Amino acid sequence: MHNAPRRESKPPMPLKNGLLPIILGLFAATAAAAAPGRECGPQALGVAREIAVDGRERLALGLETYPRTLALADHEVVLTFDDGPVAGTTAQVLDALKAECARATFFLVGRHAAEEPALVKRIVAEGHNAGHHSYSHPARTLRLMSDPAARADIDKGFAAVDAAGFGAAGPSPRAPFFRFPGFADTPELVSWLEDRSIAVFGADLWASDWQDMTPQAELELVMSRLEAARKGIILFHDSRASTARMMPEFLKALKARGFKLVHLVPGPGPTPIENAKPGWTSNTEAIIAKTLGPKGQRREPQEGRGVKTNDDLMR
Ligand SMILES: [Zn+2]
Repeated sequence: MHNAPRRESKPPMPLKNGLLPIILGLFAATAAAAAPGRECGPQALGVAREIAVDGRERLALGLETYPRTLALADHEVVLTFDDGPVAGTTAQVLDALKAECARATFFLVGRHAAEEPALVKRIVAEGHNAGHHSYSHPARTLRLMSDPAARADIDKGFAAVDAAGFGAAGPSPRAPFFRFPGFADTPELVSWLEDRSIAVFGADLWASDWQDMTPQAELELVMSRLEAARKGIILFHDSRASTARMMPEFLKALKARGFKLVHLVPGPGPTPIENAKPGWTSNTEAIIAKTLGPKGQRREPQEGRGVKTNDDLMR
């Protein structure tokens, strides 16, 4: 399996003759070729474990937007990147991940995937998830579009990403993971995605890399937030130069400070979930309200649509 977790290698045994190192070296070279991800050695971050995410469980995850998230252990993190693929920066991020045998989930913009199909193929080939982030990433957000127009944009994005990454789009997206641009969802669209067994992702924390800052400032900000949160699904943008430039140092900092990388894979559940603490509120709704004004407020679910309310989700 191309994205099998790297196992920590055992400490080297004392060697009694000169031939053994050569034999061990040959074995290591063979093992590395057979299992990409182990060639980095124990000094690299690697992937500590995988979590299978089952979209059939009607998952909307990530505490900045939803009142529940993946049940990660202390110091476990999941890396996610939005808005790519973009020439230059996405390749830099992929190089950094590859150097550490790290795996991530990319939420790709369909029209960017159509422009840069080789990058989508590389994302897939290197064991990452080619997830979805709409076709056009509309500035006014999917929330302010009509429901049919928003659905069409999402579907067009699924098709564009899968055509770029896999040569053809099937009836459902290969990586059934979706993140709303600007987190601006609607109950109807979330429910429509859940009906199709697609997991909806928010995030637990972010680097605020949509703001201009130096790579060093971004590194310090995200590490301080991570030390406070202790774990979580982290959002970056592989379209941002500061993120691309700080990624090698960030991955080294994760390793140095004892964080473990968890990689998501689409697969059968049960998906490990934990509910938000009592008193949870959405941070993204406050941001959306500032950006879109009153018309951007999340509508209440319409009756009779089978949409879960926040109270349902809190159970
Ligand atoms: Zn975005």
